[in-house]
Amino acid sequence: MPRFPFALASLLQLGSLSAVAASPVQPAAADIFVETAFRLGVPRDYASASGLHHVREPQQLALIGGRDALGYAQRLIPQAARAWARMREAAAREGVELRAVSTFRSVEAQLAIVRAKLARGQTIDAILRVNAAPGYSEHHSGRAIDIGTSGYAPTEEEFERSPAFAWLKRNAAAYGFDLSYPRGNPHALAYEPWHWYWRGDDAESTLPLTELAASNDSPAPTNLFTRSR
Ligand SMILES: [Zn+2]
Repeated sequence: MPRFPFALASLLQLGSLSAVAASPVQPAAADIFVETAFRLGVPRDYASASGLHHVREPQQLALIGGRDALGYAQRLIPQAARAWARMREAAAREGVELRAVSTFRSVEAQLAIVRAKLARGQTIDAILRVNAAPGYSEHHSGRAIDIGTSGYAPTEEEFERSPAFAWLKRNAAAYGFDLSYPRGNPHALAYEPWHWYWRGDDAESTLPLTELAASNDSPAPTNLFTRSR
């Protein structure tokens, strides 16, 4: 595989993503955004108090098609993108629609969400109840995906009543995806039936990357990032 997947070339054509940088940044730069969040009031003991780990941004991302509510192209690390495509197609063959609601999110974008909520008058405590602190979201890894389906509000608990969730519970593990925040999780984090994390290894699939981009053309939901762990 080339050093950079086709996705990078595609991203270079997307000139409109300047409001918040969505591309992976150098680790030192991401750390500046983490530090900024602490200065904005994120408790210094956030990691130990929340049970969340510091997450690094990946070096490579692949487009999976579609955009999220902030207008960013949906991206995962290439291996997870392949696994997602296989899983989505397998579900579709059984008549179940899986839709990518949110995928990679940079530390800088997470900081922008926190800043926007602070500007609207929310307290940092209220924000951190539903948003991971910048630097601590699994979405920074390019391995996490919020999954939705038609007829159910995205990133809402009602997703657990959908045929898509029932299918994922039976089949997602076979594609390397695990539910990160089940009910009663040891971190006492809110239940998120829509948030799945790819734990597979790099040899999961042989589907060429060029086949991935057209596979998720659904429109972006509008109420995204009310929750963004
Ligand atoms: Zn999520």
